[in-house]
Amino acid sequence: MVEVIDVRGMERDKRFPLIFEKLEEHGEIDVVIETKPEPLIKMLHDRGYLVKYKEEGDHVRLEIREPEIVPGSCPGASTIFRPKLEIKQCPHCGGEIERWTDEIKVVCENCGKEVIFDIDSCVQWCDYAEKCLGDKYEDVMRTLKELDERKMKLDFSKYIKLES
Ligand SMILES: [Zn+2]
Repeated sequence: MVEVIDVRGMERDKRFPLIFEKLEEHGEIDVVIETKPEPLIKMLHDRGYLVKYKEEGDHVRLEIREPEIVPGSCPGASTIFRPKLEIKQCPHCGGEIERWTDEIKVVCENCGKEVIFDIDSCVQWCDYAEKCLGDKYEDVMRTLKELDERKMKLDFSKYIKLES
């Protein structure tokens, strides 16, 4: 059973602390309140909670649930969990390169040069990336770090060219 917190008639500055305290304790609660509390809903969303709101006669009920994150369920992580084969053009020779969307470097079969790709995914900044990626998290972060280092090297070489 989900605990129901009725905050109607309660002083406004006591509501939010109570709601967050109960959430810490139970993980999920229902809140009965007079009207739709936009600031509260925003705060809850910012913390990753799922909020459903229902009108029930003269009050509203908020169903506040902890997000269930199943690794790979986020569409943004699909480039990593369900990589697709795509055809890219080699920037060196113009030949076709087959690349899986989770690969950052591919050696061109035509000219033998290494081509670096970006990983196009929200896991680079998403707060839930660690949960969302599960076992793949460390691998992906290592890859992204390598990618950053390579980019820095590239930028640096540009800089040197400019100077000389
Ligand atoms: Zn090539």
